Formats: sequence, C-alpha cells, structure tokens
Amino acid sequence: MKILMVTAEAAPFAKSGGLADMVSALSIALRKAGHDVRIVLPRYYSIDRGRLTQLEGPLGLSAGQREVWTAVYATVMPGTEDLPVYFIDHEESFGRDGIYGSPAEPDFHDNPVRFSVLCNAAFQICHKLNWTPDIIHGHDWPTALAPVLLKFDRRAHGFEKTASVFTIHNLGYQGVYPKQYYSFLGVNWEYFYDAGFEDWDHLNMLKAGLASSDMLTTVSPAYAREITTPEGGFHMEGILRRRQDRLAGILNGVDTDIWNPAQDKHLAKKYSYKTPAEGKIVNKKTLQQLFSLEENETVPIIGIVTRLADQKGIAELFGPAYGCMYRICTELKVQVVVLGSGEPWCEQELRALEHKLPNFRAFIGYDEVLSHRIEAGSDFFLMPSRYEPCGLNQMYSLLYGSLPIVRRTGGLADTVTQYNQETGEGTGFLFDYLSPQSVFDTVFWAVWTWYNKPKHIAVMRERGMKQQFGWDVAARKYAEVYEKALSVGAGH
Ligand code: ADP
Repeated sequence: MKILMVTAEAAPFAKSGGLADMVSALSIALRKAGHDVRIVLPRYYSIDRGRLTQLEGPLGLSAGQREVWTAVYATVMPGTEDLPVYFIDHEESFGRDGIYGSPAEPDFHDNPVRFSVLCNAAFQICHKLNWTPDIIHGHDWPTALAPVLLKFDRRAHGFEKTASVFTIHNLGYQGVYPKQYYSFLGVNWEYFYDAGFEDWDHLNMLKAGLASSDMLTTVSPAYAREITTPEGGFHMEGILRRRQDRLAGILNGVDTDIWNPAQDKHLAKKYSYKTPAEGKIVNKKTLQQLFSLEENETVPIIGIVTRLADQKGIAELFGPAYGCMYRICTELKVQVVVLGSGEPWCEQELRALEHKLPNFRAFIGYDEVLSHRIEAGSDFFLMPSRYEPCGLNQMYSLLYGSLPIVRRTGGLADTVTQYNQETGEGTGFLFDYLSPQSVFDTVFWAVWTWYNKPKHIAVMRERGMKQQFGWDVAARKYAEVYEKALSVGAGH
C-alpha cells in the first residue's frame, strides 16, 4: 500500500512527546513490511535546511480565503534507505520558535491556519510527485483536517481511491478555536456542520477529524474503550460511540534499538534479563552519585520521568499540602528521583521538596540521556496518570527491570499486570482510584514487597524484562486497519 503520514511531529526532526516517536517508528515498521510509506511535516525553524534537499519549484495551494506558496524540502528517514520525509517550508506558518507554541504564547493563536497549510500541502505534494496514496494517515488535531479535506473536497479531485485513517494520541487536546478561522481551512462553509467542526459555536478541529475519517484508531485497546465513556470521552464520547465500529485500539510498540538495556550506550553498565541484579546495582549506584543521594543498594529508588501536566497525576503527587510525595519520602524508606518539566507551580514544588527532603531529588528539564539512566537505576517507576492513551515510560520500565506502579487506565492497564502477593505473578503494582491516599498506599505496598518478598521482586523484574513490545505486531494491525479503511472509505 501507498501510505502518506501527515503529522506535526516525527522523531528525530521535531518532537514534543510520544506522538513523534510513534509516527516514525510505525512508518519504519510499515516500510520494512513492504509498504511505500512517506511522511510530510512542517519545516520548523529548528530543522536545519542545510541537511535537506529542496524539491524543484514552489508548491502553491489555496487554503480557503488565501493562496499560499511554500517550498518543499526532503530527506530520508534515518535508519532507512527509502522512506522519504517531506518538509513544508512556509516561513509565516512555521518559522517560529516552537511546534504548537512558544514560552511567550504557549498555544499560537493561529494554529488552525498554520496546520491547514500543512494539510492542504500534503495533497498538493502528491500531485507534485505524481504519487497518489491509498491511505492518508493523520495524527491528533493538527492533522485532523486531512481526512476532512479528503472527504469533502479532494476525493472529487484526483483522490477517488484514497481512504483516510486518523489516530487519536490524546483526546485531551482538541484544537478548539474561534470559528472565524474556518475561512482559512480550505473546506467550504456549507460543510461546517456536516464535517463535524461545530462545537458550542466554536471550531473544533479534532471533532471534525473524528467525524470524517474512514477509520479511527487510538493507541491502546483500553483507551479505545475509555474514550467512548463520559469519564474518558472529553465530551467526544457521543461521536465516538456512534463510530465505534470504525475505531480500533492498537498498542504502540517500543523502539528497541533505543530502549534496550543490553545495548544502551547511556548506561554505566549494560544488562539483560539474564543478569539483571548486577546491572541494576551498578546503574543504581551511578544514579545515586549523579543525584548526590546516599549510596545504598538496599534502599529502593522510585523513578519518575514525565511531562509535569495535570494528566500525569502531578497534583496527587506534588500538590502543595495535598500531594503524597512528602509522606512517601518521610514515612517510607525509599529514595525518589524525578525528571520532568512543565507546569511552573509543579517545578517550584519539586525544588521545595528537594530542599526539605534528603531522599528526594528532581532534575527540571528535558533530558533524553538522563531518562535512560533513571529507567536503568530505579527499582520502581511511578506513573499515576489520570488518563494515559498508551504511555511509553511504563513499557521502558518493564524492559529495564524497574517495576511500574501505575493507575489502571488506558495503555497502563494494557501493559502492566497486577502483582499477586501469594504467587508472585504479575509485572507491577496497580490502583484504580486516583487520590493521594491510593498512590501512597500502592507505593507502600510496592516498598513493603521490596523489603519482605525480594524473590517476588526478582521474578517480576525478569518477567517484565522479557516482555515483547515490538513495532512489527502493531504495524500488522495498522495494515489491517488500512485495508478496512479502503473497503469502507474510498469510493463509498
Ligand atoms: P506523553 O506522550 O503523554 O508525554 P508518553 O509516556 O507516551 O507520554 O511519552 C513520553 C515520552 O517523552 C517518553 O519517551 C519519555 O521518556 C519522554 N519524556 C517525558 N518527559 C521527559 C523529560 N523531562 N526528559 C526526557 N524525556 C522525557
């Protein structure tokens, strides 16, 4: 199949979260399976044009009320020989400091207009290359316009046999803006309601993608169920229930070239499930040195690597007076290491906790190398997410022998199995209700197990490290979704 990925992010070119990794890893896996995959994304300011090749001639497109001229640059996805990546170069839209926003303007006010340039250009590039995809695959609200354009316009103009697939990576971000921006999207006003844009007299980009795509996917089976309920649906549950037969939950894979303790160059000592104990101890010691913690191999380290965002349960962990971290560090014999950035109040609270507690350390910022070292050096990994579409860190933790302590939600529920105190079965510690008390109690349980059932800890660790999260399985499932999209979408 010929597949065009339309995306705001793709690793290693532009990344703000797990979506970037998913788009690139899935594309590579599909390419390996023999599909003709291409990726199109914006040429943000941070992407050096010097490393790319410019395609001949400009790309002209009409996006609603205006005509836009862009340049197109291209390269090949690193690690492959034949997976082209195209970059839309449009200074006015993408010549800025940031993907979705900047420190001064966290959410660029004209985002729908910027990303409409990307989505319209995606179709124009196909004309330019004389290459018509079978599937146009969009990801999250910035590219929700791609399936809409296909359904309400382009299918009549050269894309008769193309079907659309749209992946929900996070339903919490919907791209809601004043409806005046609609004039710049390139979809006729008569479709404003039919295409699903209308949301309380605003423009909801994601909603239109959900309503107009031939097939929908999300990044874990449990999240696919949760988003059809009022609790997890972010008021999209109605539309998703109606389209449930078009919705598939496919668990993301892990890039095991990067996340594999047996060949991870960032670690003080590489290790595998055959030698976890020695490997973990060396990495633990290194982590304790790095964070100036007491060097003690008997005390368990709890690691946290996260965006400091409400979704991740940061209020329950770090909320002043409310959060349970102070209790964890004072009532339990543990060390805690946090890597994260995000909400300013939370960054401040992390600094305050560090001053108060000798066994609590935080590094505020984004640091890829440190995230590997924390996974390798920790004994437990805490991720009490309010909701979690897939979550990568718990999978990394399993593979690195750091037992996950997680809330039973979304991808966390699909990847971590509950510890059984009698038999030692399971791969981690789960709780259901998100409150500081239940986070504390579950951490208490994990720490109690560490001190009292060390054999169980060792078998769980080994079990976790043997898990398979390869992308090949996910790529096969996506190929099935593409087939279904073609049968229900194109020409129907
Ligand atoms: P989300 O995409 O919601 O942030 P995921 O768990 O799916 O959550 O993916 C987050 C990715 O970003 C993981 O690869 C994680 O290691 C990485 N990450 C998050 N915060 C940081 C940080 N401060 N430093 C380094 N890596 C981080």
